[in-house]
Amino acid sequence: MYTGTLFIISAPSGAGKSSLIRAYLEQKDHHPAKVSISHTTRNPRPGELHGTHYYFVDHKHFESLIDEQAFVEYAHVFENYYGTSKAEIEQSLSQGINVFLDIDWQGAQQVREKMPQAKSIFILPPSLKELENRLIKRGQDDATVINKRMQKAQAEISHYNEYDYIIINDDFECSLNALNSIINAASLEQPKQALANQQLLKELLVNN
Ligand code: 5GP
Repeated sequence: MYTGTLFIISAPSGAGKSSLIRAYLEQKDHHPAKVSISHTTRNPRPGELHGTHYYFVDHKHFESLIDEQAFVEYAHVFENYYGTSKAEIEQSLSQGINVFLDIDWQGAQQVREKMPQAKSIFILPPSLKELENRLIKRGQDDATVINKRMQKAQAEISHYNEYDYIIINDDFECSLNALNSIINAASLEQPKQALANQQLLKELLVNN
């Protein structure tokens, strides 16, 4: 049992997941939280730092971590490995720090199996048209890539019913409020409160 909560956050590309996580962390009074840093075998892109964006390791190192069962989930994507290490998560959770896993539905399934106490949140766009508009506005991809992302979005969205919470990201402020509500409620669950307030409970039950 940890005092921090593990949050799995998934969404189709363009639904606003990264902006929501960033906005959450920029709030002054949020619960202590961090986004988990994954391991990968791909090369760093310009500006990416080891230990900030990813832990960049070679294939041999990654495979030895698989053998040691160091990952709660991992995947082979575009010739490279990507994975979430148990140590990375458990250390923060045991210090009362909430951890966000920014992973897709496949990673989410693996994590749920190993860490069933994780809370999972799925972020949806208000419509397919709006999702497409956001991908176009982002200006990162050409029409072919946008088409591919739109098709992948349908496959991703079909897994909505595996998640504990759904946020429909229409109005950004409302979505941020919803995210705050989920995180606040998780911190108030009885087992977490009991663990965080052991001394108080002992005092309150002194004559029991
Ligand atoms: P990129 O190379 O652009 O940073 O990421 C490529 C893909 O790998 C993205 O879809 C990203 O979500 C996914 N990815 C990044 N980290 C992890 C991880 O720890 N586990 C899994 N399963 N996928 C990841």
